[in-house]
Amino acid sequence: MLRWAILFMVLMAHPVAAQTLGGLARIDPDKSMARDGLFDTAQVTLQLSQGVPYRVFHLTDPNRLVLDFKELDFTGLLPEQFIKSDHILAMRYGSLGTGWSRIVLDLANPMLADDIGLSVADNGGGATLSFRLALVTEQDFVASSGAPDKTERQNLPLPSITYSPDQNDQDILVVLDAGHGGLDPGAMSGTLKEADLMLLLVRDVREAILRFDGMSVALTRDADHFVSLEERVSMAYDLGADVFISLHADAVTEGVARGVTVYSLSDNATDQASALLAARHDRDELLSGVDLSDADDEIANILIDIARTENAPKIKRLATELIKGFKSQSVGVNSRPHRRAGFSVLKAADIPSVLIEAGFMSTGNDLKNLQNSEWRQKFAAGLAQGIVTWVQAEDILAPQVRQ
Ligand SMILES: [Zn+2]
Repeated sequence: MLRWAILFMVLMAHPVAAQTLGGLARIDPDKSMARDGLFDTAQVTLQLSQGVPYRVFHLTDPNRLVLDFKELDFTGLLPEQFIKSDHILAMRYGSLGTGWSRIVLDLANPMLADDIGLSVADNGGGATLSFRLALVTEQDFVASSGAPDKTERQNLPLPSITYSPDQNDQDILVVLDAGHGGLDPGAMSGTLKEADLMLLLVRDVREAILRFDGMSVALTRDADHFVSLEERVSMAYDLGADVFISLHADAVTEGVARGVTVYSLSDNATDQASALLAARHDRDELLSGVDLSDADDEIANILIDIARTENAPKIKRLATELIKGFKSQSVGVNSRPHRRAGFSVLKAADIPSVLIEAGFMSTGNDLKNLQNSEWRQKFAAGLAQGIVTWVQAEDILAPQVRQ
């Protein structure tokens, strides 16, 4: 049985088009649309400036259609303008960061793409990708759905690594993870995206940490592209991270939350708000692409439990030092600054990992701080001081302040 409908086409750009256009393929928002067709179908058309390799697959729970393209420029594409069919509930798009872009369509009903074709105009007039969405039974949809093979991930490039000038193998490697990115903007406030604010913040934190000798830093992303939670964790493993720090600034829907909060992993969240936040994060992952539901086998679980138990006191001390660091810079912390929750991104069993909510985009003052470069630098200095104090206390290696 065809587990996932994948169409992978490499089209040679027309010579004229290649000369005149070149570079990134653009989507034409005015000629791209999903509209209702006859007999409960929908017709999807995407007008591109040139032919590009692409693939189509479906995912369940919720039912989605995923379109991957060789890097596309989406400028001007508006979901409300694109969606002219009741069969499509929502649309997200963005860069996957590996030279690929993705569009995700949330489907109101189980519908599979057929009649998929990409035609390239002879006269350099671009390319048209079109397909039909046809209603099928839920069973048929499930049977035809699934993510492409994970081995594709192995071809992903490593993130950009910044070493301090006298870097050596003995350096403490901090992997900094700017939350969200690409088709997953994170929390939004007007046109402000959590993903963008975290990228600014993570760069300041990198600079602050590199002011200490014996410290090096790697970023899980240094641009606005999508990185799955699983990839973030596996990057930390592949690079041999000594500590992993994920930065966020989510919005809360209930109550008021303000100030910096440091989260460490727990199977049971210490409070309902933390549980909700963690569930939302994992949901973001589910919505944006491939889910993480692969069950670990039992032995792996036991090993992970042991590693987590050994790490728990270390992580607690890390959280304590980070909070002290923020306070030393007069960065406001939450009334309960250390909390625990089951964030997927913290599940690297043997790398001490924390997730920091630098503030809440739903809180006016926090939002103002996040946009203020002076505040970001204080936050970065506090975080760097916290890590370095922790590293010294743990006696992993003693970094010194550069003269
Ligand atoms: Zn977030």
